[in-house]
Amino acid sequence: MTISDRITALAESETLATARKIRILEAEGNQIIKLHLGEPDFNTPDFIKTAAISAINSNASFYTPVSGYLELREAICEKLKRDNDLEYTPEQIICSTGAKQSIANAILALVNPGDEVIILAPYWVTYLEIVKLAGGVPKIVYSGVNQEFKVIPEQLESAITHQTKVILFSSPSNPTGAIYNKEEYEAIAKIILKWEKIIVIADEIYEHINFIGVHYSIAKVPGMYDKTVVINGMSKGFAMTGWRLGYMAASKEITAACDKIQGQFTSAPCSIAQKASIAGLLAKPSQLYYMTEIYEKRRNIGIALFKHLPKIKLAVPQGAFYLFPDCSAYIGTRNGSWTINTMNDLATYLLEEYFVGVVSGEAFGCKNSIRLSFATSDDLLIEGISRIKNGLNALN
Ligand code: PLP
Repeated sequence: MTISDRITALAESETLATARKIRILEAEGNQIIKLHLGEPDFNTPDFIKTAAISAINSNASFYTPVSGYLELREAICEKLKRDNDLEYTPEQIICSTGAKQSIANAILALVNPGDEVIILAPYWVTYLEIVKLAGGVPKIVYSGVNQEFKVIPEQLESAITHQTKVILFSSPSNPTGAIYNKEEYEAIAKIILKWEKIIVIADEIYEHINFIGVHYSIAKVPGMYDKTVVINGMSKGFAMTGWRLGYMAASKEITAACDKIQGQFTSAPCSIAQKASIAGLLAKPSQLYYMTEIYEKRRNIGIALFKHLPKIKLAVPQGAFYLFPDCSAYIGTRNGSWTINTMNDLATYLLEEYFVGVVSGEAFGCKNSIRLSFATSDDLLIEGISRIKNGLNALN
């Protein structure tokens, strides 16, 4: 075996596997409605592009500090104060090549082989694989549609052991769109604060795609500031997935460790993306609301369409841009040679028979749901859900 055990054990991204199947079906001449993707369908706002162009013209083309330009880290501190009422200094910020790298840095900095990492499920696929890569032991704490996909403190309490090092989750959540509020965080924090060594990694990358109007960070709960690594970035709210700019805010001890890791792996993120991000972060968040308003309209279209499928259970997403319908009522059903035993079967059936791309919930630690994205046009969303409906109605 040429390839290391470490990498052999790593799972392939489910979304990328679906994308590959779709390319094959398209090459055969089929028109696929792609609701499996996890990225905004908007272009990056013009004022951010303008900042990038002027950065190129003024030769911002040299290596920057590993943690990012001071000016960018100051802009992030300003944003954290303005939007989240959190005080950080630039040494507490590390900018990375996407929030994905920020999460990987945090896990590598905190987790020793054998340490347990509690991942709140349904979770974003990458969490599990990064934890395994670091030699950590993932412990999944699951909440289903009946709990609106949010764990309750008792569940967390019974999962914590003396080996627990990290608790990891996203809010707003990919894949469920659930958002923890202040009171829920306070209840969870009561449990966490009993354990000195536990650190929370709070992934807030969907912060600006919020339909309830309030985003609260667990770092704001009294006592939690030093125990929280806040993850955020430009990809989702600013429609900048390809620019690759994410960041973390944490205690100096943690950011110094992440600076060391990143200094050996990739150094700083792209200098031009950094300059563009300064413009994005210093702008008023209201300059981004036009995107959230459109996502919200599409979410409502999706919810209305799923009402015609009474066997589906759907929690209304409060943020992000995914619907995560519970399709467990269709387990054990058939259509011709198709038998649906799992959500993987259902996703494959919908793709190969009805030409609509969705992702099986199994990739997110949920056996009952499929994930579809509403970061697409109204027409494609309506057509995609109509195909899903036809596919489900044909199952007996
Ligand atoms: N965190 C969550 C919950 C995500 O859904 C994603 C992207 O899908 C990321 C992090 C990664 O963001 P980035 O593009 O900044 O690496």
